[in-house]
Amino acid sequence: MADRHPVRRGRPGGAGRGALGSRFVTDRARLGEAGPRDRHPVRAPGPDEGPVRTCVGCRQRGLRSVLLRVVRDEDGVRAVPDPGRRRPGRGAWLHADLACLDLAERRRALPRALHAGPLDTGAVREHLEALAGP
Ligand SMILES: [Zn+2]
Repeated sequence: MADRHPVRRGRPGGAGRGALGSRFVTDRARLGEAGPRDRHPVRAPGPDEGPVRTCVGCRQRGLRSVLLRVVRDEDGVRAVPDPGRRRPGRGAWLHADLACLDLAERRRALPRALHAGPLDTGAVREHLEALAGP
């Protein structure tokens, strides 16, 4: 009677473990096949897709080709869009999205990124509105 401690007899999961394991492997293999892009619902660029920049508004990374470059104008008080990416000097990157511009303005990200004082972002806003328009 004293010895009646529960003894684990057999392993109910013994046979199942192999199956479970192989299913796990299959899942991993499938993930690998699908590629890193499918793991994120949001567009997450891979290194093979080209240079990646961080949006100064939402702070998410995006392909350089989908982000808008913004530079400081010669007068130093305006932020201007640089869709051709040809302007010299420091550039900030922003999604072509007014929401990102709003975010950037709220946290003064553009002046900070461009090492400038307060910047008038009207030209950038106009550019984005034109893009968003019909
Ligand atoms: Zn953004």
